[in-house]
Amino acid sequence: MRVSPATTNHSTSTLFTVVSSGCQVGSMPAVVQTQNVALNRLSELFKRLGSTGAKILSVTPVGEDLHPVAIAASAPAPEAKPVTQVPTPKKNAHANVPVNTYKPKNPFIGTVANNYSLVKEGAIGRVQHITFDLSAADPELNYLEGQSIGIIPEGEDAKGKPHKMRLYSIASTRHGDDMGDNTVSLCVRQLEYKNEAGEQIYGVCSTYLCDLEPGTKVKITGPVGKEMLLPEDEDANIIMLATGTGIAPMRTYIRRMFENRERETNGWTFRGKAWLFMGAPKTANLLYDEDFNSYEEKYPDNFRYTKAISREQQNTKGGRMYIQDRVLEHADEIFSMIENPKTFIYLCGLRGMEPGIDEAMTAAAAAKGMDWSELRPQLKKAHRWNVETY
Ligand SMILES: Cc1cc2nc3c(=O)[nH]c(=O)nc-3n(C[C@H](O)[C@H](O)[C@H](O)COP(=O)(O)OP(=O)(O)OC[C@H]3O[C@@H](n4cnc5c(N)ncnc54)[C@H](O)[C@@H]3O)c2cc1C
Repeated sequence: MRVSPATTNHSTSTLFTVVSSGCQVGSMPAVVQTQNVALNRLSELFKRLGSTGAKILSVTPVGEDLHPVAIAASAPAPEAKPVTQVPTPKKNAHANVPVNTYKPKNPFIGTVANNYSLVKEGAIGRVQHITFDLSAADPELNYLEGQSIGIIPEGEDAKGKPHKMRLYSIASTRHGDDMGDNTVSLCVRQLEYKNEAGEQIYGVCSTYLCDLEPGTKVKITGPVGKEMLLPEDEDANIIMLATGTGIAPMRTYIRRMFENRERETNGWTFRGKAWLFMGAPKTANLLYDEDFNSYEEKYPDNFRYTKAISREQQNTKGGRMYIQDRVLEHADEIFSMIENPKTFIYLCGLRGMEPGIDEAMTAAAAAKGMDWSELRPQLKKAHRWNVETY
């Protein structure tokens, strides 16, 4: 099926041309039909075509000279609800995004403002919320929600060379947690694992960060990254899939959308739907949980918070409940949202989460007659499928 990449906001009366082919009977070729139908009658037409076994070949707005994109060519019509109007990304949309104000050769020396634990008693591992004072930065270290900064830990590696910079997703909005426009916060998990000899190993930079005392000077680089930026559109819908510290960029989006002081002063009034899927091993490991619960209570029409707590909840097969199980559970709603060109999806966390999500999206798409392997690159191209895993 071909789907128009139009960016225009179509009213319900906008006409679309739907080209479909009827069933092949014996050796007779399939009949190709062209029909013009208003936007608000599209789904009815799809249903009717589906019930006759017809295949939808293309959907394009009448009178627009479009270059349709191939999608789900083998999808049967009944469930083949099109992802209409995959928006074409605006050229230079990210031209004014600050990048690399401070490089590893010339880092900014920030000061730790505070550092506190984000996990509760009984949690697995250690995760800290760390805030740095940037007020001495000249030039200013400005950043946007969805970007990362680099940290260069003190000390030397095994070869006697200074430690290299590590990247961390920013967890505060551009205004900082205190809205003072001169701090940046991170959400850092201390890396720990046992090596082949069975020794307990702690990560260099994550341990350095988790142990930082207020007042300590820290080498900061960046900001970097344009992959995880939020759309400007206040009516956009944002689906967020996060595990562990992958919550950092999501926290920035959600604060920008729903935190009182942000809404009052940031000049951006979110009116769309935001849906956070959060994966954690235990309830005690849920990060910023109270904040998200309170936003959900206050903005029930705009914010939805779905948790997958693997060691405490079971999926329908009786196994551990992972975030991909939640995606499958809500596949229908998720894909109905994806059909709306204003829906953007963000995924962040450990790289290991990607195959599970991909599998769930493949199954969910198939249930709607779509081919995820074809749809995903289109959504990515339109900046609607955004992934940052590490
Ligand atoms: C864009 C981006 C954003 C990021 N955001 C965050 C964030 O918000 N929060 C966060 O906590 N981290 C984040 N990270 C990860 C972060 O950059 C570091 O990689 C992480 O903190 C580990 O660094 P370290 O110096 O502590 O570990 P290191 O001392 O550098 O050790 C890491 C090395 O240990 C080895 N290793 C790791 N696990 C195992 C294992 N189980 N078995 C054997 N060997 C292993 C691997 O060789 C690995 O390269 C992000 C990474 C990227 C790229």
